[in-house]
Amino acid sequence: MYTGNRATICQRARYNDDEMVAHVGLGGLDLDPGLSALLGDTTTEIDVARKNRVFCNRNLRMDSIETIGFDMDYTLALYHQDRLEQLSIQLTLDKLCTKHGYPVAIRQLSYDPHWAIRGVMVDRQLGNVFKLDRHAHVGRCYHGFKELDADKRKALYRNEKINLSADRFEWIDTLFGLPEAVMYTTLVEWYGKSGTAVDFDKLFGDIRTAIDEAHRDDTLKSVIKADLASFIVKDPLLGETLHKFRSSGKKLFLLTNSLYDYTKVVMSYLLDGERKAYPSWRNYFDIVIVGGAKPAFFNELRPFVQIDPVTNEAMPNVEVKHLTRDKIYQGGNVIAFEQMTGIKGEQVLYIGDHIYGDILRLRKAHMWRTAMVLQELEREISVSDRLEAQIHDLELLDRRHRNLESEIDWQSLRLKKIQRLLDDSSHTNMHDRLEEERRMSRASIESLRDRAVLMETEVDSLETRLDRAYNPHWGSCLREGNENSRFGEQVNDYADLYTSRVSNFGPYSPLRYFRAPRRPMPHEI
Ligand SMILES: [Mg+2]
Repeated sequence: MYTGNRATICQRARYNDDEMVAHVGLGGLDLDPGLSALLGDTTTEIDVARKNRVFCNRNLRMDSIETIGFDMDYTLALYHQDRLEQLSIQLTLDKLCTKHGYPVAIRQLSYDPHWAIRGVMVDRQLGNVFKLDRHAHVGRCYHGFKELDADKRKALYRNEKINLSADRFEWIDTLFGLPEAVMYTTLVEWYGKSGTAVDFDKLFGDIRTAIDEAHRDDTLKSVIKADLASFIVKDPLLGETLHKFRSSGKKLFLLTNSLYDYTKVVMSYLLDGERKAYPSWRNYFDIVIVGGAKPAFFNELRPFVQIDPVTNEAMPNVEVKHLTRDKIYQGGNVIAFEQMTGIKGEQVLYIGDHIYGDILRLRKAHMWRTAMVLQELEREISVSDRLEAQIHDLELLDRRHRNLESEIDWQSLRLKKIQRLLDDSSHTNMHDRLEEERRMSRASIESLRDRAVLMETEVDSLETRLDRAYNPHWGSCLREGNENSRFGEQVNDYADLYTSRVSNFGPYSPLRYFRAPRRPMPHEI
């Protein structure tokens, strides 16, 4: 038993001196075996796989958080993305063919759910889909499934400042939106190959309308409700995590855009009967708000309406003066919420998945702290872990390549100087030595250039190989080239914490002080 403890302590000490101190402080190696068995082993962050950790962009003390709010879709309820996307595409195609006059042949095309990633941008005018880097420059761009070469891409998007908020561009920033990009690309490709002229703007508009209809008229949700296990990931640690928050004295609330009839089915599936003390999902939450219409909840003054839990209908004649745990509410706004509950913004942590609806508004206009659930993070981290050695090689190679280029610059300047001296008749006595120096210098620069070309090719091919491991077309959703993608930068700027699922909070102490890592500026590296 002691050997095991010691090994754990030594392993931890390699990573984190503070944790070593904390362990030894508990009694360390001299702990009585009986007491040690009773206390058990305490999990610390180093015991948690990286893909299941909570990451911090902005310092946050969990002991100063009194209330934790949760979004439902893609936050508490994670979806089996492939199945949901296939269903969403199939239902949208039905609507495009039956209601919007599209040919039935489009049903036979192959729609790859892995084609798109979160954060891509659709250009409705030109029929393109592209990914942006953190400076909002187009990093890579596809028309149909054909990637545009660098010259064409620059000609289209670098010669003028792009106004990303223009109607021409649509940002795919939720996982619900991925089928739009998949269908748009597949149909742009198909029309292109068949030689039929198509209005790219109308095509995207029709896809969006059809998919919105499928969401709104219950066609999509009725299929999910009938077979929840096929579409929703049931996380066995979710109930325990919520219970842990509650038992540390925090109040919990649900704030979702879904309406009550869907919310209650999904929440029941996730939580009912998961823990003895909580027979119903309702027992976990102090306040339940459905149909929240975020981001309007944060920047408009819509009233709260009570919902009849039996009929699922709103009760507009019942005035809402308090928010209590035995009622269900719909709509509402952040100002009334804070007034009625007496909760102060900086004591709230809101956990959501939508950068615009859940995170950005709160950061810009309110005091609520935020945690973002990024379902993709688990896979992104698994890929990075698997390729760790190659990523390290790439960094090293990239650094050596940059060093080589600066050496070429320096030697080229020196060569120019030699040339000037040779041209200057006052140095005729040194002519032969300067000639020799020029010859050597030229040879050296030439050889360095050859090496730089080889190295650049190697950097490019390694970069492409690594990129493909994340997604064959787009690479990582959080990175573009050697910096953050625009989406990654927004997560970085607006989410105080981010993680791949809510239950990742489970192993952390309710008093945890999440600290942002020190970020060096380029001159510090
Ligand atoms: Mg959501």
